[in-house]
Amino acid sequence: MTPHIFELRNVSRYYDTRASLVRARRGNKNAIRAVDDVSLDVQREEVLGIIGESGSGKTTLGFLIAGIETLTQGDIRFDGQSVWSMSRLDRKAFRQRVQVVFQDSGSALNPRRRILSTLQDSLRLRGVPRSQRVNNALALLGKVGLSMEFGARYPHELSGGQRQRVGIARALAMKPDVLIADEPVSALDVSLQGQIINLLLDLRRELHLTIILISHDIAVINQTCDRVAVMYRGALRELGPTPDVIHNPADAYTKQLIGAVPKGLAGRHPAKNAEGMSTND
Ligand code: ADP
Ligand code: MG
Repeated sequence: MTPHIFELRNVSRYYDTRASLVRARRGNKNAIRAVDDVSLDVQREEVLGIIGESGSGKTTLGFLIAGIETLTQGDIRFDGQSVWSMSRLDRKAFRQRVQVVFQDSGSALNPRRRILSTLQDSLRLRGVPRSQRVNNALALLGKVGLSMEFGARYPHELSGGQRQRVGIARALAMKPDVLIADEPVSALDVSLQGQIINLLLDLRRELHLTIILISHDIAVINQTCDRVAVMYRGALRELGPTPDVIHNPADAYTKQLIGAVPKGLAGRHPAKNAEGMSTND
């Protein structure tokens, strides 16, 4: 077993506007460098935060790690194996072991299917025998703190927080090693954010998950992450233990990002930054 579950080396993802990608590689100005030459390791069972303002490449980086987006350049190793050299079977296993939770995962739920059916669908995808799926799906509801009766409900009958729990349950149905949570609490009321964050931390401990938590909110990152990576315009500006990065940033951009949050707030319980002080834009 390699010490790191993920190893990223000089990872780039360019989006072409007009010019060809070949020219983009040669430094064409029309290419959007969504992720630009990022190298980092993800340790097993850590919570790694990715922070940065809107458009800094956080989601793209998360999608590259999840194998949803393809690399323009560089290499990503999962469990020591390069994504470039994976067989179809390995890739399938990889896509199963790395799950993504989105900001409003409720919007991705089939509105016409009851929650229990949706969870059973995911279990079927993983190859769980039909006879075990109902019990398994009910157990997943319990794991995310929802009572059994939620299984009979439709997505529109759930609150935002409950839908996010179902989104997490659906990810867990695939028995992942890694959860990539992209702004998982940004759409929720401040009072609910802490609950979902605590759920993720509980699941990490119980299921030995590695979590990559993407957020523009320093308070959320500070409460949750062992280490944090700071992104700016596609580039990795700083990576270190969360307290070091937040209280003693080495990088000029990080200082500016942290400085945008009034003193005291960075240490507060998960909460959105007060209006007008958002680090999102
Ligand atoms: P963040 O999640 O930090 O807000 P993103 O990863 O979504 O940032 O975007 C980074 C940059 O890449 C932005 O400039 C965005 O407009 C651009 N981008 C993202 N996805 C695409 C795409 N599919 N096509 C073109 N440009 C994209
Ligand atoms: Mg994003």
